[in-house]
Amino acid sequence: MTGRLRAQVRTGDTVARLGGDEFAIIQRQINDADETQVLGKRIIQAISEPYSLSGHKIHIGASIGIELIKGMYVDPDEVMRNADVALYKAKAEGRGCFRSFDPELHSVLGKRRLTETNLRRAITDPNAFEIHYQPQFDIKTNSVTGFEALVRWRDPVRGLIPPSEFIGVAEETGLIDKIGHFVLERACEDALSWPDHVSVAVNLSAVQFKTSRVAEVVVAALDRTGLPPRRIDLEITETVMLEDDKRAICTLSHLKRLGARISLDDFGTGFSSLSFLRRFPFDRIKIDQSFVRDMADNAGSMAIIRAVISICRSMGIDSIAEGIETPEQLAWLAKEGCDSVQGYLLGRPMKLADATALFAPRPRPMLRAVAG
Ligand code: C2E
Ligand code: MG
Ligand code: MG
Repeated sequence: MTGRLRAQVRTGDTVARLGGDEFAIIQRQINDADETQVLGKRIIQAISEPYSLSGHKIHIGASIGIELIKGMYVDPDEVMRNADVALYKAKAEGRGCFRSFDPELHSVLGKRRLTETNLRRAITDPNAFEIHYQPQFDIKTNSVTGFEALVRWRDPVRGLIPPSEFIGVAEETGLIDKIGHFVLERACEDALSWPDHVSVAVNLSAVQFKTSRVAEVVVAALDRTGLPPRRIDLEITETVMLEDDKRAICTLSHLKRLGARISLDDFGTGFSSLSFLRRFPFDRIKIDQSFVRDMADNAGSMAIIRAVISICRSMGIDSIAEGIETPEQLAWLAKEGCDSVQGYLLGRPMKLADATALFAPRPRPMLRAVAG
């Protein structure tokens, strides 16, 4: 590897190994920025040529971040930081390419990089993640039938961080496997403290389907905790079906045969191809909260919700609407025949103790002996 890098540079340039699989090159005396890009292209080509190791052909790739130094006096730390940000962009844009530093990248990517660094550290701390549980209600009986497990990250400096701020980074970096594993195990364990008819819904990312053996991880969590499979509800989004249809369907079918329920989350936001519903027998469709939010002012949203409820009914699939915030939304969904609901109006995501307390027997009024 070092040999191939050296072969690409001129005398006077420097090639250094920073550690692990990271290298740095200082290219001197260049006339314009294009020269760095020409070198970047050459290096990627040279490294991509197959290596012969013990008779096997090995392929590796490289991503490159470029920082152009103008002027005489520079802060070496800043140069490294900027090159690092550019490298991060190259990796995020599909790897095997080079990107130059742009000051605008700094705030966006720098923040993302920081999240990644902190997330990698957090993953080794058993107390860094916690799960909050949001109740799901049967609309007819108004009783809690399950909870959705929603992960949060407790950072010592930033406090409680919502999933919207780290699930994306976790998916890009592969850290989602560990987080997903933790959520599954903990959610199955926690669900044991609720009555037997109450289920727990766990969100599974499309990345988990690609990189880990989802079925094995779910089965292991159920076996270890002793939670009956009928009490777990696995929420997936359409992306799972889009990315590797056959493999995903095989995994989902296996889990369904075991007795787990499979729900299609955020329905209506992506491609919402009705053929997904033909290809896999989902147990439940979650109508996305954006439709519920718009319901009052947008006749289209109302029509879509009505159509989805009707499809569910005719296919024997349960319907659940999320994001219920007003009594009017609740009343309309009940009138339209939606099976279940979830939303701030009925209960926000809460800690396990508060979720469990919902089933505690209400204290009976005490009979007081009244002295006569
Ligand atoms: P989701 O699975 O669609 O979860 C519903 C989100 O809507 C949750 O946000 C919930 O707190 C929020 N929500 C519920 N009711 C209302 C309401 O009435 N109004 C409003 N405005 N929001 C409501 P949260 O907890 O921030 O999670 C966001 C997303 O992060 C989830 O969307 C899910 O896609 C992802 N996520 C959460 N936990 C996990 C996890 O363990 N694994 C994976 N892969 N993704 C997760
Ligand atoms: Mg969900
Ligand atoms: Mg959703």
